[in-house]
Amino acid sequence: MSTDQYKKRMQRKKAHIDNRIEEANIDKGIIVLLTGNGKGKSSSSLGMVCRALGYDMKVGIAKFLKGVQDTGEDAFLAKQANVQTAFMKTGFTWDTQDKAYDTAMAVETWSKAQGYLEDKSIDLVVLDELTYMISYKYLDEQMIIDTLNNRPKDQHVVITGRAAADSLIEIADTVSEVKDIKHAFRANIKAQKGVDV
Ligand code: ATP
Ligand code: MG
Repeated sequence: MSTDQYKKRMQRKKAHIDNRIEEANIDKGIIVLLTGNGKGKSSSSLGMVCRALGYDMKVGIAKFLKGVQDTGEDAFLAKQANVQTAFMKTGFTWDTQDKAYDTAMAVETWSKAQGYLEDKSIDLVVLDELTYMISYKYLDEQMIIDTLNNRPKDQHVVITGRAAADSLIEIADTVSEVKDIKHAFRANIKAQKGVDV
């Protein structure tokens, strides 16, 4: 391609992109759903938390399922004045092996999450590993959808977890599926600080 052809092509591309940017003029709270079997869902949600905190926005984070596991981000988030957290105080389901207990813990954590989803002063709500609460039937699917639908109109929500229910995919504005191509764990490398926990 000649320099001239390249320049013309880029000009056409720029015109197209400028047009699309101009068309995208709606401002509203959106739901981002991060699902799939690959690594990167929860850590991506924390990237959005960083972005929000950079603008002094207020953030509520509810972590379902893995609240007993200490992670680097928990230590970091505890120091942030603009962050509220609710951790489901239970481990992996295959560790607790107690459905009644897990359900009670899910309901308790959801009530805090619901508080965030009713609070206009909270700009971003993270519902980490929420998908499992629906697939394990710990929480009522319709109740979750109704609460999400009725949240403050400018509030953003990030939902993470594998195997997202169709209802979550439908209600979300942005959905990404993280595909597992390779994971260090399968080469017997244990979870690494700063990367996995
Ligand atoms: P991360 O928190 O690192 O962004 P994630 O939220 O996408 O990961 P989860 O299913 O919540 O993934 O699992 C969290 C933990 O399990 C992390 O330590 C992550 O590295 C690890 N993990 C994620 N995907 C896989 C996989 N496909 N095989 C093995 N371990 C995985
Ligand atoms: Mg995760």
